[in-house]
Amino acid sequence: RVGPRRTRLEQPGRTADGHAVHLLANVADPAGAAAAAEMGAEGIGLFRTEFEFLGRTTAPGIPEQVAAYAQVFAAFPGRRVVIRTLDAGADKPLPFVTAAGEPNPALGVRGLRTSWAHPGVLDDQLAAIAQAAASSSADVWVMAPMVATADEADDFVERCAAHGLAHAGVMVEVPAAALRAGDLLLHARFASLGTNDLTQYAMAADRELAGLARLSTAWQPAVLSLVQLACAGGAARDRPVGVCGEAAADPVLAPVLVGLGVASLSMTPRALPDVGAVLAAVTLERCRELAALALAQRTADEARSAVRASLDVLEELG
Ligand code: PEP
Ligand code: MG
Repeated sequence: RVGPRRTRLEQPGRTADGHAVHLLANVADPAGAAAAAEMGAEGIGLFRTEFEFLGRTTAPGIPEQVAAYAQVFAAFPGRRVVIRTLDAGADKPLPFVTAAGEPNPALGVRGLRTSWAHPGVLDDQLAAIAQAAASSSADVWVMAPMVATADEADDFVERCAAHGLAHAGVMVEVPAAALRAGDLLLHARFASLGTNDLTQYAMAADRELAGLARLSTAWQPAVLSLVQLACAGGAARDRPVGVCGEAAADPVLAPVLVGLGVASLSMTPRALPDVGAVLAAVTLERCRELAALALAQRTADEARSAVRASLDVLEELG
């Protein structure tokens, strides 16, 4: 490795030729938000709100939620904060919204689907987000997890609007949503690719099973194709598409994602400096070439090796 390890993101994300790629942080609580600000994140691309809800038998009240959200928003005055509504179910069961004993919880009532039977929990959460946003200078965007269809996206956007939350979007974590992203983005203002779940569902491989790791990577050409399609859907509607799954933290994959059309990368804060350094060393045109190179491979290993071999900047990062 040449030079000391980078410890902080020193400048906003951009390619060598100045194309902006917003480098954002994934956080779950106020302490995480403070750490992300310290690390130089430009904003928050995924605020997972489950933390407030876990380990309880009833949903937290609106005032309690307002206090928690306001603390996170306060860490990024004037900056973008993308807050995700409750993503219960599957690996995060919650007694007040999820049913016990589903035979396939990952394919069950999870994410936005929990609001079908329990709309009050989502409405209270949106009310709390709106209140916290009103008393903060953060640019608050709201998104729903596990959206599969355009009507779900439309319904979510309408519910957000009813609370005065104009900047509503969807997570793209289900292959159906990636394939039809343009439909979902007619009213939704942005999309964020949850590549952890998108990979799980594209490859039919439980993301929790270590034995399936060779399948569970966004380097799988099938997953890259879904990312490409989702970005094309976003471009057709002139809506930004970001990535907030683990894939965004892979400095080799980051330029490929940008080349596929991704406008922002949200990741664990400690990954920000390396991802920022790689992007600063490549032009947008180079990112597009790397994306084409990755898409032309037949296997995940070949895609990763091909991109790695032609990215000189990686030598420096070690
Ligand atoms: C994802 O699925 O990629 C994602 C960001 O959401 P989570 O990891 O919380 O399911
Ligand atoms: Mg997910």
